[in-house]
Amino acid sequence: MYCEKCKHCFEGERCPNCRKGRVRQVRPDDPCYLTEQSSPWNGMLEDVLRQEGIPCVTSGRLGAGLSTYVGSVLEITRFYVRWSDMEKAREIVNGLFGKGCPDTSNERGTEND
Ligand SMILES: [Zn+2]
Repeated sequence: MYCEKCKHCFEGERCPNCRKGRVRQVRPDDPCYLTEQSSPWNGMLEDVLRQEGIPCVTSGRLGAGLSTYVGSVLEITRFYVRWSDMEKAREIVNGLFGKGCPDTSNERGTEND
């Protein structure tokens, strides 16, 4: 499912991020939350995504004026990619950073309900 508010994609009926029920089936062109990275990794990831031909949308956590003031050091960028690009984008993130995304959709296998 897909949460329009957080742009999280996940399995289940409630958004694990905001726990609201405003969710729907994800569509291939939906922008989905991929990861968030701070400088300099955010710039590196953006470059690699671009090289791989994956369009991404980024949003800084800080306001524009504030991030200008503090510089890029503390800036954290959130990355969103289309759902159709998500699998490939995750592989890139895992390759770059060597850790899984904090995303429940990675949790497959045995489910003990
Ligand atoms: Zn949400």
